[in-house]
Amino acid sequence: MRFRSHMDLALAEARAAATRGEVPVGAVVADASGRVIAQAGNRTRELSDPTAHAETLAIRAACAALGSERLTGCALWVTLEPCPMCAAAISFARIARLHYGAADPKSGGVERGARVFSHPQCHHRPEVFDGIAAAESEVLLSRFFAGLRKP
Ligand SMILES: [Zn+2]
Repeated sequence: MRFRSHMDLALAEARAAATRGEVPVGAVVADASGRVIAQAGNRTRELSDPTAHAETLAIRAACAALGSERLTGCALWVTLEPCPMCAAAISFARIARLHYGAADPKSGGVERGARVFSHPQCHHRPEVFDGIAAAESEVLLSRFFAGLRKP
């Protein structure tokens, strides 16, 4: 159940992001023992920062908490397939395991698009577990974007 509980926390971050008017994506970094080191939701609008994706913010916070540029042995849970920028950050941080929820056909960079971890220039590939609580994540995203389309 460890997988699910961390994804539940990531989903809570995604819901909190939605209430701030941000695209509902949440992320959690845990160490090898499963202890949560950092959690974050999207804050691109709040911070006026196109790089303030949930995964990147969680990685930055986890690195700051550990005083290290690497998160060796750590795992990341994120509600949506990471984009190419976040996938690169996951690789640079040496994250051991990536768990994500919904697939992202538009902007995903793991199983689609740039397929960052499959690229010959990728020096560290995490183990990838996809589709975790994907339905909940998809509902959050589709509700959020349906709300934006309303007049
Ligand atoms: Zn991203």
